[in-house]
Formats: sequence, C-alpha cells, structure tokens
Amino acid sequence: MRIAMIGTGYVGLVSGACFSEFGVTVTCVDKDAGKIDRLNRGEIPIYEPGLDELVAKNVKAGRLSFSLDLAASVADADAVFIAVGTPSRRGDGHADLSYVYGAAEEIARGINDYTVVVTKSTVPVGTGREVARIIRKTRPDVEFGVASNPEFLREGSAIGDFLRPDRVVIGTDSDRARAVMRALYRPLYLIETPIVMTSLETAELIKYAANTFLATKITFINEIADLCEKVGADVHDVAKGIGLDGRIGKKFLHPGPGYGGSCFPKDTLALVRTAQDYGSPLRIVETVVDINDKRKKSMADRIVEACGGDVDGKTIAVLGVTFKPNTDDMRDSPSLDIIPALQAKGAVIRAFDPAGQHEAEKLLPGVTWCGDTYETLEGASVIALLTEWNEFRVLDFKRARELMKTPVLVDLRNVYNPDDMEMAGFAYTCVGRPSRY
Ligand code: NAD
Repeated sequence: MRIAMIGTGYVGLVSGACFSEFGVTVTCVDKDAGKIDRLNRGEIPIYEPGLDELVAKNVKAGRLSFSLDLAASVADADAVFIAVGTPSRRGDGHADLSYVYGAAEEIARGINDYTVVVTKSTVPVGTGREVARIIRKTRPDVEFGVASNPEFLREGSAIGDFLRPDRVVIGTDSDRARAVMRALYRPLYLIETPIVMTSLETAELIKYAANTFLATKITFINEIADLCEKVGADVHDVAKGIGLDGRIGKKFLHPGPGYGGSCFPKDTLALVRTAQDYGSPLRIVETVVDINDKRKKSMADRIVEACGGDVDGKTIAVLGVTFKPNTDDMRDSPSLDIIPALQAKGAVIRAFDPAGQHEAEKLLPGVTWCGDTYETLEGASVIALLTEWNEFRVLDFKRARELMKTPVLVDLRNVYNPDDMEMAGFAYTCVGRPSRY
C-alpha cells in the first residue's frame, strides 16, 4: 500500500515512519522546506527517542521518503493523512482549521483514483464533513472517501505508543474507506489492538473527550495536592490509595505545576468552545481550563516564597524548561509562565534543558543558558526543578551546595523525597507534601 502524510511534525513524522515500518510505502510531505531538506540529509528536525534509527532504517529500505511536492505525493496514494497543526485560534480558543482545510484543497487537486482522505490532526466535530465538502467542490470528478483517525501518541514515547496503542479509532461512513483503513492497521491485529470503528463525528469527539478527561484528572490531583499541603497529608499516598481502585486507575495522578504541551491546553479550550457553540456547555472542562491557567501562573510564587519572599537580584537555577521530559516541545510549557514571572520580580535566571534549549532560547529572552546542570547552579540562591528529565533525578547535592549561594530546592515535579533533602542539607519545597525548611 502507498500513503502520503501531509505535515511532517511530531505526529506526521512518527506516524509516517511507523506506517513504513509496517511495510507501507510512505511519503511525508511538508511545506517547510528547511524540514524536508534536513530529513533528506538524514537529520531529524525534532527530538523523539528512537526516531532517528526508525527513519534511517525505512529510508534505506526504500519505503519512506520526504517531499515538498504535495500533488505528486498524493497522486498514487491509497490514503492521504492530514497531520498538520490545529493550534488555538487567536482570540477565541477555537481550533484554527486553516491548515487542515488548506491541505484538503491541495490534496483534492492532486488525487486521481479513489483515495481515502484521513484526518489525523485533532479536529472539532464537523471537520471531516467539511473536508469532504472541500474535496467534492474542488474536484467533482474524483472518487474519494473521508475518515477520521485521531492520534493518541505521546511525545517522548511516540514510537511505542504508535506501534503498540491502547486502541485505534477509525470514524467513517464509507465501507470502502473502512476497508482501506483496516488494511493499513492490519499489523496491529496481530497484537490484538482494539479497533473502535465508528462515525466521523464520534471519532472526532473521542479524541477531545480523551484529552479533556486526562487534563481533568491532572487538575483534580493538583487541587488535592494543594489541600494536602494545608492539612499535612501526602498527595502520593492519596494518589496511590485512590489509584489502586480499578475504577479510578493509577495513571495521570501525579501532581505538578499544571499541564502544558502542544495538546491539552489547546484541546481543552477548543472543546469548551465547541460545547458552548452547541448550547451544551462542559462546565467541568471550563473550570479545569481556568484552574490550570491560574496554577501555572501561581507556581512562580512558590519559588519566591522559598527564597524568603524576595527574588530581586537573586539567581535562580532552572532545571528543565520543556513541558515534560524526552521532548524538545516548548508549546504551552509551564516554564513560559514561571520564568517571565520571576524575571518580572527581578530574578536572574540561569537555565538548562537537555533538548528544549534551542527552542526555548527564542521564547525566553534574558535567560542565561548553560551547558549542563552544574554550570546552571553556579551562584544560585535556589534550584527550580521544572521538568523531570532523568539527569535531574540523581543530583550530587554535595557538589550543588558548594556551587550555590544557598541550598534551596523547589521541586515542582516531586522527584525528590523530603526526608532525603533534609539529610542533604537543603531547604525543600515540593507539591502536595510537607515542605522542609
Ligand atoms: P507540528 O506543528 O509539529 O507539525 C505540523 C506540520 O504540518 C508542520 O511541520 C507544518 O509545516 C506542516 N504543514 C502545515 N500545513 C501544511 C500543508 N498544507 N502542507 C504540508 N505541510 C503542512 O504539529 P503536531 O504536534 O505534529 O500536531 C499535528 C496534529 O496532531 C495537531 O492537530 C495535534 O493536535 C495532533 N496531535 C498531536 C500530538 C502531539 O503529541 N504533538 C499527539 C496527538 C495528536
């Protein structure tokens, strides 16, 4: 089989490489010439563990290629996947569908025989029907089907998530399109992956319902963490105590500075807007969005408090700026709220991130970027641990104390244990557990 993947970002590149691993012939298309150039030179434009080997292997086998030429790439494809961005529209929070609709029009101009046009991007209910309308209008002569196939991979573990998913969701009204999609995902039948076959609208809604549910779970445990601090309870024990109940589940009960990243913030907001438009408001999700926004902003206050209420002229060593480890994605990362708020209070920021630094430099002016963890700590009054990269999990606190002005750690990811930190001679603030001064 032959497919084209339109949009070669975190989702398109991983999905394209994984389909080629299944034996499908894949052309990944992007309009960003720099990205395609790099890929054709054998470079991977994003940080995603294992992606370089997977891409190199399938390029070598002749199953995976990269192109700027959308029309040529879709001409012989059995299916064309739209995996372009759907960011928040400026001003109102609706998903910006201009890239999706633009791609649909270009695809329509390029296809010849029967082709299934699949939306992999996260798109609001009704988008698939609009994609069909655009194609029909642009090319009344051509036979095609439309399907929704939302993607659930997570940055940082994207390849494993794609190759061994909890489920695959396929929404379409067409038997012919369904057969093509089944054939593409056939390799996953061997590992008995559940396939949810449904309508276009349902598939589109499943993706938003999943992401908003997860964002709600995170927000719930974050609020429980705040309460734990007030009453002297330990949020990790609470999470364990509730998570062992199979109806609740253990995952996504880790407290922190608020969810960020390229999906949860924009998807929660977009679902809120869709629900309002249809006169069926999702008040839980509206509240989640509001709580999370405020939480991210309030995290700087914790750091100020740990510094005795004043950071003016003090050096803060920030470890990690990406929204989670194992990615270079900076979109809506809590660090984008926390660092400017500290700078506004007069703090001097030194920072280090193992993969996100290049992207972060453009977004966080005035920060001194360091080459490694210990260089970051030089002369600092406090460490602010914002992302739980592996290399921040076993710090040499003796060395840290020697480098720093005062031994203070604000651990917004609860990587460390309050007792151990007391032993290491650090004043320690974390989330949802008693702090040690
Ligand atoms: P991204 O910004 O990394 O990549 C999108 C790419 O599409 C860019 O390289 C852009 O140049 C390209 N593009 C835009 N219009 C194009 C066109 N007409 N022709 C060719 N290329 C075009 O985005 P992403 O993170 O991969 O997300 C893509 C979609 O997948 C979004 O809807 C997102 O919500 C969804 N999603 C993302 C993740 C994730 O973890 N990033 C997970 C699941 C779903």
